[in-house]
Amino acid sequence: MTLQSPINDELAAWDRDCLLHPTTHTAQHARGDVPGRIITGGEGCTIIDRDGNRFLDGFAALYCVNAGYGRSEIADAMNEQAQKLAFFHAFAGHGNEPAIKLARMIMDRAPDHMARVYFGLSGSDANETNVKLIWQYNNLLGRPEKRKIISRWRAYHGSGLVSGSLTGLAAYHARFNLPLDGFLHTHTPHYLRRPDTDMTEADFTNFLITELEAMIEAEGPDTIAAFIGEPIMGTGGILPPPAGYWERVQQVLARHDIALIADEVVTGFGRLGSMFGSDHYGMKPDFMTIAKGLTSAYAPLSGSIISQRIFDVLADGTDQFGALAHGWTYSAHPVSSAAGVATLALVDSMGLVENAAHTGPKLLAALRDAAGDHPNVGEIRGEGLLAAVEFMENPAERQFYDKPMAVSSAISAAMLRHGVIARPMPEGNIIGFAPPLCITEDEINQLAHALHLAIAEVLPR
Ligand code: PMP
Repeated sequence: MTLQSPINDELAAWDRDCLLHPTTHTAQHARGDVPGRIITGGEGCTIIDRDGNRFLDGFAALYCVNAGYGRSEIADAMNEQAQKLAFFHAFAGHGNEPAIKLARMIMDRAPDHMARVYFGLSGSDANETNVKLIWQYNNLLGRPEKRKIISRWRAYHGSGLVSGSLTGLAAYHARFNLPLDGFLHTHTPHYLRRPDTDMTEADFTNFLITELEAMIEAEGPDTIAAFIGEPIMGTGGILPPPAGYWERVQQVLARHDIALIADEVVTGFGRLGSMFGSDHYGMKPDFMTIAKGLTSAYAPLSGSIISQRIFDVLADGTDQFGALAHGWTYSAHPVSSAAGVATLALVDSMGLVENAAHTGPKLLAALRDAAGDHPNVGEIRGEGLLAAVEFMENPAERQFYDKPMAVSSAISAAMLRHGVIARPMPEGNIIGFAPPLCITEDEINQLAHALHLAIAEVLPR
């Protein structure tokens, strides 16, 4: 398809002159050099820009529009709630119908040992909440020095001060004075990125566990509050953990009374073909971060789900010291909550978790057919409807390209010309796929075909 160039009119000028865009080359955008698009519509797995171009969205926006675009069930529920009661706060025990119903639906789906959900607006703020609550928990238990948090390099947990410190991607730290003190990072749990080529996968898991234990011992177990991890790393490159990783990590954490925060912002509500990534990998977290799929991004909403043992201590604390003094104005927002209730109903009625389980292996197989034999394809990997193709200078020698994102951005741009959106991931040359969970096999084949054409154009043999 030949892309029409974006209309260059007053609206485009206002965009350049007024809007500071996230993760965008600011100067190029202000000059009009970024080929950004103004998106005006969407249906199913397809988005439409105002020039009339249609794109099959292989990344569900930012792996969030899981139920697909144009779902009137969600839009109608939001409209109805906004007409009835657009907002009242949830402070001092006030409630609203959709937030209470949604909390019930979340707790019905969460693991049995989880006790309550605290609502926020974004994955980032939910991770800030998790860290504040584990700090308060340890302060109430009389161990205020137990406050450091361990994360992993290449993790993504948000862009706030705390959540950005938890994130383990260099660009999100550089020139922002991050990470803050007390936020530590361990080696990336991805076999392709093992420190020594000769390691088997089992050796690599041992290496990761030894490194984690050594860090805990060096810092002092009494100073470590929590370990945070995405069940499968997302933004860092869609990196499934090596075999046995989560089981072994949890054994270490249990030995040192360190809480586990499972960041389920991407994996929650079906992405891996199970309700949560924690179910998929046998994790028993103390906190679960949810966002994105909770409302299919029809409205901003996140949650921190906390376990019974954390809840009991926090509740006792309020008997001693008064109300839990942590409150976002928009926590439990009625319109966002109505979107959540309608979304989770759709997850059930459309069978989205089952569809992810069914189509995920087909996505992986289609990507392997399309790209598996190319000499610069180093790895094709995935779990459920989350997949990635990693390009390398010389896969046999485990040699990565020097320049991050050069090849992947070119592939992504070429795919766009073939009507498909796939995302170049930061650090490395990785193309990510995370389509809406309602994707069909035909659409999967379209994604793979566009990848095939793009590779032939960018990396001709
Ligand atoms: N955690 C994970 C695993 C994420 O992928 C993201 C966003 N991509 C976040 C947290 C942050 O969410 P938000 O952008 O809504 O703040």
